[in-house]
Amino acid sequence: MRIKRRVYVGLLVASLFLLAGLATGGWYLVTHRSIVVSRIILTAALIAGGIGFIIIGCGILAIVLTIIRCRSIPSFDGMMRAANQLLFPLAVFLGTLVGIGREKVWQSFIAVNNTLVKAKSSLASPSRLMILVPHCLQDSECPHKITADVNNCKKCGKCCIKDLIELAEKYHAVLKVATGGTLARKYISDFRPQAVVAVACERDLSSGIQDAGVLPVLGVLNSRPNGPCFNTKVAIEEVENAIKTIIKI
Ligand code: SF4
Repeated sequence: MRIKRRVYVGLLVASLFLLAGLATGGWYLVTHRSIVVSRIILTAALIAGGIGFIIIGCGILAIVLTIIRCRSIPSFDGMMRAANQLLFPLAVFLGTLVGIGREKVWQSFIAVNNTLVKAKSSLASPSRLMILVPHCLQDSECPHKITADVNNCKKCGKCCIKDLIELAEKYHAVLKVATGGTLARKYISDFRPQAVVAVACERDLSSGIQDAGVLPVLGVLNSRPNGPCFNTKVAIEEVENAIKTIIKI
C-alpha cells in the first residue's frame, strides 16, 4: 500500500499555524484591554510561544529535509520528536475536521516515522532487535499460550506466528507477542532493544511509536480480513524487509 507522507507533514504545518493563529488571537484580545499586568503576562507567554513555534518549525523542517535527503539530521532529533509529540493529536483532529479520516492520518504518520527511522545510519545489532507483534495474529482456535513464550507455538502453519518464529530465528532477533500496550511496554523495558520492528493496526502503531520516544520503531501494518483484533494477518515479506532495514543488510 502506497501511503502519502505529505498528508501528515501537511497537517503538522497546518497545526503549527493553527496554534500560532490562536496565540495571535489571544494577544489581540488581551492587548485591547488596557490592563498593564495582563499585557506583561501575555508578552511573556508570546515570547515563550514564539520560541516554541521556532523549535517546532525547525522540527518540521528537519522532518521534511530528512524525507527529501533520506539521511537523518541527528542534532535535530529532539526537535523532530517535539514536533511529532506536540502536534500529532492536533494533526489528527485537524485531519478529521477537513475530512481526512483518522486512519489515513495514522497511516501517513507511520509512513513518515518509517522514513525517519530508515534514514538513521546504524540502528541495531540482530540480537538486540525485537519483533513485536499483536496477539490477534494467532489463530483464534489455537490452544497454545504464546504470549508468555512464543516457543509454545507448535508451528502447525494455521497462522503466521510460525513464519514469524522462523524469521526471528533466521535473523537472530527476539520475537514477542503482546496482548496490548502494557505487555508491549513491559517487553521493551525488560529486553531493552536497540530497535523494534512492530506489527499492529494504525491506531496501536501510532500510539506505540509515540510512546517509544527515542527508541527507533519501524511499523508494519497488519491486515484485518476478519475485522479488528480477530485472526489478523501480516505480509511476512514486509516484516523481513523491515528487519533488513533495521540491521542494514
Ligand atoms: S502456527 Fe502456532 S500459534 Fe499459529 S495456530 Fe499453529 S500452533 Fe497456534
